[in-house]
Amino acid sequence: MSDINATLSAFPIFIKTDGKRATIIGGGEEAYAKARLLAQSSAQLRVISEHIDSDFERWGNDKNIEFLHVPYHRELLAGSALVFAATGSETADRQVAEDARALNILVNVVDRPELCDFYTPALVNRAPVAVAIGTEGAGPVLAQQIRARVDQMLPPSLGKLASLAAYYREAVELRVPRGAQRRRFWSSFFGGKVARLVEQNSLPDAALEIENLIRAQQAEPQGHVALVGAGPGAEDLLTLRAQRLMMEADVIVHDALVPETVVSMGRRDAERVAAGKRKGCHSKTQDEINDLLVELAQSGKRVVRLKCGDPLVFGRAGEELAALRDAGISHEIVPGITAACAAAADFSLPLTLRGVASSMVFTTGHDLKGNSLPDWARLAIDGATVAVYMGKSTAAEVSSRLAEAGLSPDTAVAVVENASLPNSRLMHGTLADLAVLSEFDDLTGPVLTIIGDAVAGADFEGSEPLASRRHTALNAVIQQEAAQ
Ligand code: SAH
Repeated sequence: MSDINATLSAFPIFIKTDGKRATIIGGGEEAYAKARLLAQSSAQLRVISEHIDSDFERWGNDKNIEFLHVPYHRELLAGSALVFAATGSETADRQVAEDARALNILVNVVDRPELCDFYTPALVNRAPVAVAIGTEGAGPVLAQQIRARVDQMLPPSLGKLASLAAYYREAVELRVPRGAQRRRFWSSFFGGKVARLVEQNSLPDAALEIENLIRAQQAEPQGHVALVGAGPGAEDLLTLRAQRLMMEADVIVHDALVPETVVSMGRRDAERVAAGKRKGCHSKTQDEINDLLVELAQSGKRVVRLKCGDPLVFGRAGEELAALRDAGISHEIVPGITAACAAAADFSLPLTLRGVASSMVFTTGHDLKGNSLPDWARLAIDGATVAVYMGKSTAAEVSSRLAEAGLSPDTAVAVVENASLPNSRLMHGTLADLAVLSEFDDLTGPVLTIIGDAVAGADFEGSEPLASRRHTALNAVIQQEAAQ
């Protein structure tokens, strides 16, 4: 488990260097390395040592670094904002640290964390953007590896883009209303065409595009609704598009089945509305949700309607889409990983299996309650793999009606509670065993059932036989009755 709230014993800050002096004591390799790092800032660098490596000095002369070929003396530290001790001798470094501290100057001693007031980070420099990586001295190699990865992620033109943003900031503040519109402006600025044009070094075109963007934001904001699939629950099964839209959303309207960890992948200050709709606790009716989506979009909001799994599978998307269409609201759909696919993955279960199963049925089993058998029962008998959503309460009916219709009671069945999540539970058995599922009181998470010959190809390691659970459940009932 990640421990993202652990305490840092060194807090990262950015120190202003304009017009400030940084003094390095030492002239060898380590002093040179510090100088190279500091030369990325505007600090005036002074290097003090009787012996200074010639390549260090050659490099430094081009950079206006001041070299003093004199023995170290504490007076030489006066007027520095930062001091670096890199003499190569522990005693000498200790002395420098002590002197700096006496003068109230922050000091860094190479390779001696215990003598440091601050550490220098591994740095990704896209001035004015900087990413500083620190490990509190625990892993310089780790810091360099992270640095290399971040370096790769950030285009070389990022600094130019950030400077351009600084240049336009005032104009944008005057011309683009604050709040959602301004946020949208900057989000398009950094993430869209402007960034691409700057990357291609087409600055005149970028300037035109910025002007267009400013104008577009001055117009009435246009609301938009995205019906977004959140996947089965694991955060890393969210699609990149879903996450991008969640980062751009003004409002996220989510179902109860979408875990908090997934909802919080969205923009931190996006408004969140829990639309409920978990079995037994409907906090809003479907009509209320439809109206809410329309109202939010009409007020110019960018809405993400976040639904578990895929939004078009048992998600009442049909009604929401009809409401949006009737109101003339722009909308889009972002598919998600549906529970059947996540459950099959947990079981390493091929949903279609060459020569065994070549079609699939997504059902809830609710239509088995009527008198006539639905068409899909025939498909099941012909070998389709059947995924039953919301199937806990209908398990007994699904089991008995399919058996009556002619599906062998020995047909393999796989059941997954909380598919894709760390607390998932896997059970397996036969169509006959499935009948007991609705009696299991400890199944409180969402449950998906897969029925069909293809299930026989699953990996049952880590899965409990339904039959043994059945005995436990029956015993519990018997004990309860005996106690009464
Ligand atoms: N749109 C969703 C289905 C919504 S209906 C999708 O595509 O997955 C709600 C049902 O989905 C639940 O009753 C359960 O059967 C199934 N479900 C959703 N998430 C699940 C999960 N993590 N594990 C097992 N079943 C899940």
